[in-house]
Amino acid sequence: ESDAIVANLKKELAAKELENEVQVIMTGCFGFCEKGPIVKIMPDNTFYVQVKPEDVVEIVNEHIIKGRKVMRLLYLDPTSQDHISDSKHMEFYKKQIRIALRNCGFINPENVDEYIARDGYLALGKALTEMKPQDVIDEIKKSGLRGRGGGGFPTGLKWDFASKNKADQKYVVCNADEGDPGAFMDRSILEGDPHSVIEAMALCGYSIGATKGLVYIRAEYPLAIHRLKVAIDQAREYGLLGDDIMGTGFSFDIELRYGAGAFVCGEETALIHSMEGLRGEPTVKPPFPAESGYKAMPTNVNNVETLASVPVILLKGAEWFASIGTEKSKGTKVFALAGKINNVGLIEVPMGTTLREVIFEIGGGIKNGKTFKAVQTGGPSGGCLTEKHLDTPIDFDNLIAAGSMMGSGGMIVMDEDDCMVSVAKFFLEFTVEESCGKCAPCRIGNKRLHELLDRITKGNGTLEDLDRLRNLSHVIKDTALCGLGQTSPNPVLSTLDNFYNEYLDHVNEKK
Ligand code: SF4
Repeated sequence: ESDAIVANLKKELAAKELENEVQVIMTGCFGFCEKGPIVKIMPDNTFYVQVKPEDVVEIVNEHIIKGRKVMRLLYLDPTSQDHISDSKHMEFYKKQIRIALRNCGFINPENVDEYIARDGYLALGKALTEMKPQDVIDEIKKSGLRGRGGGGFPTGLKWDFASKNKADQKYVVCNADEGDPGAFMDRSILEGDPHSVIEAMALCGYSIGATKGLVYIRAEYPLAIHRLKVAIDQAREYGLLGDDIMGTGFSFDIELRYGAGAFVCGEETALIHSMEGLRGEPTVKPPFPAESGYKAMPTNVNNVETLASVPVILLKGAEWFASIGTEKSKGTKVFALAGKINNVGLIEVPMGTTLREVIFEIGGGIKNGKTFKAVQTGGPSGGCLTEKHLDTPIDFDNLIAAGSMMGSGGMIVMDEDDCMVSVAKFFLEFTVEESCGKCAPCRIGNKRLHELLDRITKGNGTLEDLDRLRNLSHVIKDTALCGLGQTSPNPVLSTLDNFYNEYLDHVNEKK
């Protein structure tokens, strides 16, 4: 539909001989998916929502030619029934701070000049001309940036490890293998602002002493792949990638590697194996990739969102970034809001924002006036949190303490109609399917967990089955080889903790 809107806009503007005065740009995601497709008119900052291709004639005639807003296409505030013409005044955007998403929806991602106009590649220029590699690492360390892919490991420390390992060849890998069902944080960044990731990879390369970068991206993301390729070509053309970048003597270039959508390949050792043409299976760490990664060389793996925050940290300074967020989780986090929530979409909020603010203010509350029941954070292997967790400030440590995790940023909201035992079974189905099968606790244990849940949801479970569920979940958590297995029982354990009565109801239904 967006393509048709763009085509119609171009046609209509040409018909009115305005094609040289008004530019039509296809940007990345605005985040407010619930109200898409969105057309934003600049410099007026007018935000039209749920636009249809046939609305274009009215937008051109009324807004562009006569300077009058098309009221019916403005956002209608459900609380006051006022039309809002500007994204700044919408609840959805008010509490957001966009760092990783700073350029998404603002620039044409296929035009490097627009990225440069918003201070793009300035951080790389600054680092290459004014900073030593260790200064860059120290700045990232001071900022408190932690990996946004799920692990939350301090990014600067990771870079430090890779920099200290000496080798003829080192690698920077961008993990763009976003595997959580319903999550699209990384895809949106790559589609909306690919240069921010390219610039960050070059910065990482400079700081650790690597000249080669690889982006491991899902083959199912054709638009992100296209935009990344265009951006890499433009960066090479402008001397921002390749040999002797900006005449500084530093060389760095990037290639793409495609993933086939295996969830386990988000784990860095599995990802590296997959890039090497081997089975995408994790291996025991140590050795960590910083010591022996791609082709047994020191390798730094960071996820897309982590990298997208790097250039702006170097430009605005570590103190600025560290001033946002909580004591141990600095900066912002992007979440994909989904499920029974009014405002489905992509949001970026400061760490420390509460679940209540995210669900009821930014997310606009529960669909169809129903009651909130639970929110699952952290993707399919995250935990289900309840009413009592709503005022928990979201950060890496608080979510783990509450029995869930940050994961890469999936957030699925459930209402009064959802059966939490079925929810746990649903998520477990996914991990059973995605287990690589290398270790027994995950390969066999999750299958047994799923059988237990199946029996219980069909009304054939017993009280002893509930104990078996809990015990087996702990065994899997404690003994599985990689993060996938270690976190897969989270939906079961968190629903046993928070919704035990629902399990009892199923067991008591037993004939
Ligand atoms: Fe494979 Fe699961 Fe073991 Fe990870 S925990 S290595 S996904 S079998």
